Amino acid sequence: MRSDNRPVVLVVDDDPVNLEVVGQILADEYRVLVATHGEQAVTLVETVPIDLILLDVVMPGMDGYAVCRRLKELETICDIPVIFVTAIREEQYETTGFELGGVDYITKPVYPLILRARVKTHLELKKNTDLLRALSHQDGLTGLANRRFLDQTLALEWKRAVRRGNSWLSVILLDVDCFKKYNDSYGHLAGDATLRQVAHALQSCLERETDCVARYGGEEFCCVLPETPLAGATALAERIRKAVWGLELPHRESDVADRVTISLGVAALIPTRALTLEWLLGQADEQLYLAKRAGRNAVQGVELSATTLVTSFSKRRS
Ligand SMILES: [Mg+2]
Repeated sequence: MRSDNRPVVLVVDDDPVNLEVVGQILADEYRVLVATHGEQAVTLVETVPIDLILLDVVMPGMDGYAVCRRLKELETICDIPVIFVTAIREEQYETTGFELGGVDYITKPVYPLILRARVKTHLELKKNTDLLRALSHQDGLTGLANRRFLDQTLALEWKRAVRRGNSWLSVILLDVDCFKKYNDSYGHLAGDATLRQVAHALQSCLERETDCVARYGGEEFCCVLPETPLAGATALAERIRKAVWGLELPHRESDVADRVTISLGVAALIPTRALTLEWLLGQADEQLYLAKRAGRNAVQGVELSATTLVTSFSKRRS
C-alpha cells in the first residue's frame, strides 16, 4: 500500500465519464475523491479534509455555483480553493465563478497537462498562504500563539459563547515573578531561554484542542479556555504553576524562591451582550495583581457576573 500523504482533490461532476477522465489525469499525484451531485459534495467537504475542489457548474439540483456559495459560508472550509470546470465558455459564467470566490475556471474538454498544471499551481499557492498565516499567528521567541492570534481567538470565543448562551469562558493571565531581576542577573539571552521553557511548560499543560495559550507580551502569557467554569480554570492554573515550579530553573535574585516561579490570575464568566471581553481581561489582570500581592507563586481567581460588574463599578466610585 502506498503511504498517502498526497493532497486530496475532490472532483464534483454529474457525468460519470467526466469523473473518470479527470480522476485518471490526477490519480498519480493526488488522492481523488468524487461526488456526483452538489449535496454529496457539501457533505464530503464537511466530513473529510480536502485540499482542492474541481467543481462542475451545470448539475441537476444544487449546481456548482450553489455548492460554492455554501462552502464559502462555512468557516473552516471557505479557504479550500475551488476551480470551476465547465463546458460553458461564456464570459458571464466565468465572471460569476470568480465572483463567488472560485480561484480558476477551466473549460471542457479538459487537457491533461493544463489541468495538472493549474491544480498544482493552486495547491502550492494554498500551501504558501497557509504557511504565511501560521507564521503571522506565531510568537517568534516562544513558538506559542502571538498577541494578534490571541485577540482574534478571544473575540471569536466570546462571540461563540454569546451565541451558544449560558456557556462559560475563562481566561488565565500569568507572568514570571521578578523577571526583570532575572534578566538583570542572568542576561537577556538567558531570559529568552527561560521564557521558551516556561512557554513549553504552559503548552504541555493544555489538553483540549479548543484551549489556546499565547504570549501576551514580555514575560506575560494568556490562556483562553472556552466552555470552562472557574473551577476548571483554576485547576489548570494550579497545574501550570506547578509545572513551572517543576522546571527548577534557578533564580538567585527572586524574592519568592530559589527558582523561577509564576503568578496567575483567573477570571470566568458567562458572556452576554451586556458584558465585555475587555472587562473579563481587566478582571483577570486584577486577580493577577492580587496573586502578586499575596506573595507571588500563586493562583487567584474570580467568578464574574453582571452583579460583580455592578459591585466593581461601585467600588471604583467609592
Ligand atoms: Mg454537468
